[in-house]
Amino acid sequence: MAMCEKIKEPFGITVDSRDGGYAFVWAFKIKKEQAKREGYDKTHVRGAVDYDDDFNGCPHCGAKNFYICSSCGRVVCYHGQKVVTCPNCGVSSALQSAASVDLSGGGF
Ligand SMILES: [Zn+2]
Ligand SMILES: [Zn+2]
Repeated sequence: MAMCEKIKEPFGITVDSRDGGYAFVWAFKIKKEQAKREGYDKTHVRGAVDYDDDFNGCPHCGAKNFYICSSCGRVVCYHGQKVVTCPNCGVSSALQSAASVDLSGGGF
């Protein structure tokens, strides 16, 4: 499950595995209770992440880039800032550990 940095609301991402990594295919709004019931909160994404050509971006704010919080592992939408604060766990970090998500433009 992912979380919007702007409005701090959760959303789900459909993830395809491909070429040994992952691709974000579709993002959709979801309620916290619903996410728990359907097990979305247990999803862990590790490794290289790519974006599908049709990926729609964050359903809340429209951001097309994401990072994975190095502390809690949640996927968070990204707006170009150098230091990010995770809306889930509140940990701030410089965006280096998220290099595996920063794959837009390569790997096709
Ligand atoms: Zn967002
Ligand atoms: Zn976090």
